[in-house]
Amino acid sequence: MAVAGNGHHVRWRTLRIVRIERQTSRVKSVFLSGPEAFRFLPGQHVTVRLTSESGHTAQRSYSIASAPEAPSTIELAVERLDHGEVSPYFHDIAAVGDEIEVRGPVGGHFVWSVEQGGPLLLVAGGSGIAPLMSMIRHRAARQSSIPAALLYSARTWEEVLFREELLALQADGLDVTITLTREAAPLGNALGRRVDAEMMSAVVSRMEPVPAQAFVCGGNAFVEVASRCMIQCGVPAAVIRTERFGK
Ligand SMILES: Cc1cc2nc3c(=O)[nH]c(=O)nc-3n(C[C@H](O)[C@H](O)[C@H](O)COP(=O)(O)OP(=O)(O)OC[C@H]3O[C@@H](n4cnc5c(N)ncnc54)[C@H](O)[C@@H]3O)c2cc1C
Repeated sequence: MAVAGNGHHVRWRTLRIVRIERQTSRVKSVFLSGPEAFRFLPGQHVTVRLTSESGHTAQRSYSIASAPEAPSTIELAVERLDHGEVSPYFHDIAAVGDEIEVRGPVGGHFVWSVEQGGPLLLVAGGSGIAPLMSMIRHRAARQSSIPAALLYSARTWEEVLFREELLALQADGLDVTITLTREAAPLGNALGRRVDAEMMSAVVSRMEPVPAQAFVCGGNAFVEVASRCMIQCGVPAAVIRTERFGK
């Protein structure tokens, strides 16, 4: 049985899909709700279990992108991986009203709430924005003024998840840097290359003092590079927490 961050055993429960929203060409948000509130901490994920008619089961992890302040519905942002087993299900088959088996919340290491303080540095690659979005939304819901910066790498402008919401929060005090790896940036302040030490240094140097809480999430290679860049820029290794979505 999985163990939640608080050490309690977590049980399977059945949630219902109450809404599906296309975010980008490759990502859909799936909103799940159950008879009782779903309590979790920003950064935690759930395990989803699908069972076919023949009894074959597949389990995958998905981060909760919504804020814990709205516990009646949780949002998962699922990226479609062609030939994958579970993510295409959410894109091609799942419909509002379907029941989904979910276990969680899971994860006690990759969590942040305002009580932990800051400055807070968040670094996301692609759909790795999901758990960081929960932290960002939580910070906004709590009207926290803890200094926070997000460095977010996406392939194209169209693939920047939660783009309008992030730009609105930027106007509200969140330091947002977006970098695109596969096209020129349409906005003056967006960058157009892979995350490197120079880019990280520009973000970190705007934070005073150095980040006391740092989170990086994305694919394996992205997490490796981004955490190395953080260390090069003087972020203490001890404050860096990582979550890897796989390849
Ligand atoms: C803690 C955690 C949180 C996560 N949160 C999120 C999240 O918020 N959003 C999100 O989108 N993902 C998230 N993930 C990733 C997610 O759990 C799945 O790994 C992802 O959705 C892929 O699952 P899948 O079943 O679609 O693909 P899989 O069936 O697992 O396949 C993975 C890849 O292998 C390839 N593949 C499969 N079979 C073959 C084959 N026979 N030959 C060649 N290639 C093959 C597929 O094309 C695919 O690219 C998270 C992972 C972790 C560990």
